[in-house]
Amino acid sequence: MNASAPGKLLPIVRTVGELRRVVCGWQRASESVALAPTMGALHRGHLALVERGRALCPRVVASLFVNPTQFGPNEDFSRYPRDEAADAGLLAGVGCDLLYAPDVAEMYPDGFATSVDPGPIAERQCGPFRPGHFAGVATVVSKLLLQSQADVALFGEKDFQQLQVIRRVARDLDIPVVIEGVPTVRESDGLALSPRNVYLTPEQRAVAPVLHRTLAEMARRIEAGESIAAVSAAGLGAVRAAGFTSVDYIDVADAETLRPLERLDRSGRILGAVWLGKTRLIDNVAVVPKR
Ligand code: AMP
Repeated sequence: MNASAPGKLLPIVRTVGELRRVVCGWQRASESVALAPTMGALHRGHLALVERGRALCPRVVASLFVNPTQFGPNEDFSRYPRDEAADAGLLAGVGCDLLYAPDVAEMYPDGFATSVDPGPIAERQCGPFRPGHFAGVATVVSKLLLQSQADVALFGEKDFQQLQVIRRVARDLDIPVVIEGVPTVRESDGLALSPRNVYLTPEQRAVAPVLHRTLAEMARRIEAGESIAAVSAAGLGAVRAAGFTSVDYIDVADAETLRPLERLDRSGRILGAVWLGKTRLIDNVAVVPKR
């Protein structure tokens, strides 16, 4: 174990054995443990996970692993922003107790062959546009949950389909952990914080908030009683007209299963994915029936 970031004392472990030794020590002392999995390039959204973890458990572990198996061949794995020392400093500043930063060989040793297939929930929305992505996420998150043996694990609503995939997998595989969703942290103009926002040119950055604005307006209209079909068509038209390079999907779905929602008779979620140049942005908002 070594400390990083001058002046801050955030211990870092890089192997499953070291991680388990620390976590088991806490749990033997009756201290429950929260895990916040990340791919680094941390911003206030990630730190909100750690802060929520702190509120729920006396101990919080963050993990930092840029998982190669969830990136497609033409995606940004090699240029994904990486700065472990800066991340460790930020984590220490919000009271994180431990950083788990394994390398690829620790996560996927020679001979590694198993994959977790999350089933139909991964086949909608982002699924068709990112083949293999959710299997990559489900596999690495299952491993992180089992490696850490955390009592609680925190995931952002920013990646809502990912959150619901992870809930499904944890239930189906009887992984003994409570999955907690954390609301999306946004810029003041509504753009969801993401490490990928640094790729945007000033012109693209000006268009980007239209995604959230459109989804929020769709939710308002559906909650006011307009038909989901009509509002979906209008929403799609609005993002197409806004100057995005292309639109992967705008979708109104059941909030739990992510199957299509035809009527607002239960909790829904409006999800969207668009491109600005080579940068893909996703976002989502809740849509709930009036009681
Ligand atoms: P990433 O490092 O992008 O894989 O994200 C790690 C975790 O942080 C995931 O659970 C994300 O959903 C969450 N996250 C990322 N951006 C935000 C945000 N703007 N607000 C809340 N959570 C976020």
